[in-house]
Amino acid sequence: MTSLADYTTLGLGGPARNFISAAGDAELIESVRAADAAGEPVLLIGGGSNLVISDAGFPGTVIHVNTRGITLADAGDGGVDVTVAAGEDWDTVVAATVAEGLAGLEALSGIPGRAGATPIQNVGAYGREVAEVITQVRVYDRREDQIKVIPNERCSFAYRTSLFKATGPRHVVLEATFRLARQPLSMPVTYAELATELGVVPGARAGAGEVRSAVLKIRARKGMVLNPGDPDTRSAGSFFTNPIISAAEFAQVEAIATARHAGPVPRYPAGEGLVKVSAAWLIERSGFTKGYGAPAPARVSAKHTLALTNTGTATTADLVALAREILTGVQTTFGVTLTPEPTLIGVTL
Ligand SMILES: Cc1cc2nc3c(=O)[nH]c(=O)nc-3n(C[C@H](O)[C@H](O)[C@H](O)COP(=O)(O)OP(=O)(O)OC[C@H]3O[C@@H](n4cnc5c(N)ncnc54)[C@H](O)[C@@H]3O)c2cc1C
Repeated sequence: MTSLADYTTLGLGGPARNFISAAGDAELIESVRAADAAGEPVLLIGGGSNLVISDAGFPGTVIHVNTRGITLADAGDGGVDVTVAAGEDWDTVVAATVAEGLAGLEALSGIPGRAGATPIQNVGAYGREVAEVITQVRVYDRREDQIKVIPNERCSFAYRTSLFKATGPRHVVLEATFRLARQPLSMPVTYAELATELGVVPGARAGAGEVRSAVLKIRARKGMVLNPGDPDTRSAGSFFTNPIISAAEFAQVEAIATARHAGPVPRYPAGEGLVKVSAAWLIERSGFTKGYGAPAPARVSAKHTLALTNTGTATTADLVALAREILTGVQTTFGVTLTPEPTLIGVTL
């Protein structure tokens, strides 16, 4: 039996009852269709970088999405539509578009996984998200047994979510189309840390290649680019999303922070009457600092409070126990309930 630990960046997960690698759309669709007809549960895996799979494994068919293909089409006005098969490695796509002189994906450099998963949680980093450039997503709709093209405005993209995440495993992403700009300069650099790294003022542009290099540098410092030599990267990236809370809830968090001399609470706008709070800040100020958990094999990354890591001998149960401890700690300290970012398979927090 195939061990799913070999297919997740955490290096965790028990066996798959049945494991298929799909190299083409027809094979991918047929595999899903056959499993659905047999009443067999299906789990799609791309790069396994946003998955926490139970030690018991998956009691059904796991399909590894290995489809390939990148096509470019002129979209007029300097725009280029880049259509990417779901199984393409995401960072290879970003590198190729930057090398081709196309701007739009440079800030999303270094994110592990496959292109097909990027629309699922509306992948984002350093002030940018794929929702800004995706024009459409081609899917196989399992419920209607049909291939469909879903335009951006019907993807319900929002912070770390989309129609595809909300409807669970109903849609199999076959390919996504990104509208990029043929220009040497990047999209405006809005993220302060990135602007500082580049030596530009927030809102300015830099060379797209320079932005890619700067992002990769920052990410490496935080253990956020996969590196077999760096155990802090054996993670699923950020384990919790930044909570979006009401202004009244935020006032409570501020009052608690003041009472605890925890310093100003970092906040970001999140729509009318709502505030996005840094999950990393809440976690750290609740006592879970970098490296927390050592010497246990599941611990908080030594480089980034939001990443939970498997140092090599952890089980999924260990990792989930750590995640629960953090969840409860933040709830008790600040009254805020964190939401896990990765997809949890066979486990709950
Ligand atoms: C070190 C590190 C850094 C990270 N940094 C970021 C970051 O900066 N920003 C960010 O947004 N994310 C980040 N992530 C999370 C992750 O890389 C992304 O969410 C990525 O898009 C997941 O891709 P994947 O192919 O690995 O998906 P997987 O983990 O294989 O799957 C994730 C989910 O998508 C489903 N899925 C996969 N492929 C398909 C498909 N073709 N059709 C339908 N469903 C599918 C799976 O069933 C699962 O539910 C990081 C992860 C790590 C390990």
